[in-house]
Amino acid sequence: MTETKITYFDAHTHHVYDADSDVLGVFQWMAHESFLEDFGRFFSVGIHPWFIQQWQLEQDLDFVRSCSQRSECLAIGECGLDALVATPMKVQSQIFEAHIDLALELQKPLVIHCVRAFTELFAILDKRERLPRIMIHGFNKNEETAMACIDRGFYLSFGADLLAFGHLQKTFQKVPTDRILLESDQKIQIIADVYHMAQSKRPTDQMIELVQQNFNQFYFG
Ligand SMILES: [Zn+2]
Repeated sequence: MTETKITYFDAHTHHVYDADSDVLGVFQWMAHESFLEDFGRFFSVGIHPWFIQQWQLEQDLDFVRSCSQRSECLAIGECGLDALVATPMKVQSQIFEAHIDLALELQKPLVIHCVRAFTELFAILDKRERLPRIMIHGFNKNEETAMACIDRGFYLSFGADLLAFGHLQKTFQKVPTDRILLESDQKIQIIADVYHMAQSKRPTDQMIELVQQNFNQFYFG
């Protein structure tokens, strides 16, 4: 985990980078995956809304609680709300709230997955007196939603969709420099492409330095 030769900081990935890679990624450990004791890399852990299994929720929450105590665990998540999955929003909300509580208790940041549920998401977060540092991962919404997140102090992490969608590139250009993170998520080996796209859309920013700073600020605050 030496930082000396790291070029790219991948804020959210399901890919395990080699130890000698020039990418430092935060691997997203999901509660339905079995944990490797000797994993030896930075990770985040949570119950992904796609994989909520109501019949074993307590075990999954225990798994998250125990893994999250480790020093390599930098954040809680990904967790959140997804209107496209069958699990009722009420159940998703309860599980999400448990992750918020854990992040506050451990003073670790929170990585959020949100699909077509920003109204519900804001309703949950806005009623809290205290919040952990928050990243919306895989952000691909419009400028209005981006600014609603920025106003709340959230970080926005951009990935594969930044390569594909002109409207998202326009939104990306409006995001304050200190809120930008970049990620590969499920796509292997795209982080350099995402950096290049980000740089081309914001030519006056030094994307490599800027993302490194924000990554450190978000994960190590
Ligand atoms: Zn993910």
